[in-house]
Amino acid sequence: MGGDQHANGRTFRERLLSRLVIDPSGCLLWTGARSRGGYGNIGTNTGIFAVHRVMYELFVGPIPDGLEIDHLCRVRHCAAPAHLEAVTRQVNTLRGYQALSWHERRARHASNA
Ligand SMILES: [Zn+2]
Repeated sequence: MGGDQHANGRTFRERLLSRLVIDPSGCLLWTGARSRGGYGNIGTNTGIFAVHRVMYELFVGPIPDGLEIDHLCRVRHCAAPAHLEAVTRQVNTLRGYQALSWHERRARHASNA
């Protein structure tokens, strides 16, 4: 533990991106550790962070106080910035119940010839 970040010359960002793979569905899937809830986890010297939250902050911007990061695609270990949205807890919960498959709608739309 500690100091190995410099030993192998890899930055946090590189470690993060090296464990993400693009799924044919368009999701950016985390291949590293996951939390019990199914979210991607990445460990650093200062703690363990949820991958989708880290990705949101890296590629979209700071997460406003009190907001949760919702997955528009409903894939919990996905970290595609375009699939993430900062919402209130109420909205997040509601969307979870609705769970109209976002991928399904999107696929239908795409193949709608
Ligand atoms: Zn996704």
